[in-house]
Amino acid sequence: MTLDDIKSAIDNSNSIVIFAHENPDGDAIGSSLAFYIALKNIGKNVEVIVPNFPDTYKFLPCSNEAKLETSLDKYDLAIALDCGDIKRLDDPKNVFEKCETRVNIDHHTSNGMFGDLNFVNPVSPACAQIITTMFKYFKYDITIDVATCLIAGIITDTGGFRYEGVTSETFEIASEFLSMGVKISKIYKESLSNISKGKFEARKLTADRLEFLEDSKIAYTYMTKKDMDSLGINKNDLEGIVENGRDIQGVEISIFLYEIEKGFKASLRSNNYVNVSDICLLFNGGGHIKAAGCTLPYSLEESKERILIQSKRFLK
Ligand code: 5GP
Ligand code: MN
Repeated sequence: MTLDDIKSAIDNSNSIVIFAHENPDGDAIGSSLAFYIALKNIGKNVEVIVPNFPDTYKFLPCSNEAKLETSLDKYDLAIALDCGDIKRLDDPKNVFEKCETRVNIDHHTSNGMFGDLNFVNPVSPACAQIITTMFKYFKYDITIDVATCLIAGIITDTGGFRYEGVTSETFEIASEFLSMGVKISKIYKESLSNISKGKFEARKLTADRLEFLEDSKIAYTYMTKKDMDSLGINKNDLEGIVENGRDIQGVEISIFLYEIEKGFKASLRSNNYVNVSDICLLFNGGGHIKAAGCTLPYSLEESKERILIQSKRFLK
C-alpha cells in the first residue's frame, strides 16, 4: 500500500464520508475538518460526521458543516481519522464497514489496521501532521482554512508543541502556516489555554480529590455522573484533568476515571518509562505510549482497584 493508492481511491470515488474517534479531541476534529475542506475543494461529494461536536472547536472553519449522522447507507469511500480501534469509531449507524473502500489514517501505536488501505505512522505526533504531509504529496491546495484545522490538530495533540513526539517537521509546518497568515496564537488560545467555566469547575473538583498513591508515583482522581450533573458539565469538559496529575513532580502515572453508561472510562498518562498503552490493552483499550485509555465495566471502587493493581506492576 502506498500513498498513491489512497490518492487513486479518492480520485475514483464520488461519495466520501469522514469519521474520527468517539469523544473527539482537537486532533480528531482538526484532521476531519481539514480532510473535509480539502476534498470539497477538489469537487468531491463529501460528508464529515461528528455526532458530539465539542464547543471548544466550534471556532474552526466549516465546523457548522459537520453532520450528526450519515445521510446515505453506503459511500464509495469511507475515511477513518485519528482512530486506533474500529470499536471507537464515531459511526452511530455502522456505515464505515459497508463502504466500498475503507481508509484508515492514524498515529496510534495500538492501531488495529482495520481499513482496506491503512496509513499509520505511530511516530507522528498528530494525525493532522500525517495529513499535512499527505496533502503536500497529493499536491492538494493547503488553503488557510485547511491549514487552520491542521495546526489545531497538531497543537492539541502535542500539548502546544511540548511533547517528545514533536519533530523538526512539526515546527516547519507551523512556520510555513504562520507565513501564510494562519493565526497560530489565536488557535493555540482557543484550543488549549482558554477554558470554559465548566472545565474549570471540573478541574477544581478533581484536583481537590486527587490522591497520591505508591510513594506518590501514581496520581489518581475521578468524576462520577452525579458530579457532572451537579456541575452542569459533560464529557467534553473533562479535557485536561488527567494532565494535571501527570504534571506533578514525581508522578509517573496519572489516572483519571469518569463515569459513563457502561461503567468508568479510564484516562491514563505517564511521564518517563511506563507504557500506559500496554496497561490499557489489558482492559481492551489502547492509545499511545504516554497517553492511553480504556473502559472499565465496573463500579467506581472495583474500577479503581483493577486499574491500580495493573498500573503498580509497571512501576520501578
Ligand atoms: P484520552 O485519555 O485523552 O481519552 O485518550 C488518550 C489516548 O488513548 C487517545 O489517543 C485515545 O484515542 C486513546 N484511547 C482512549 N480510550 C481508548 C480506548 O478505549 N481504546 C483505544 N484503543 N484507545 C483509546
Ligand atoms: Mn491524535
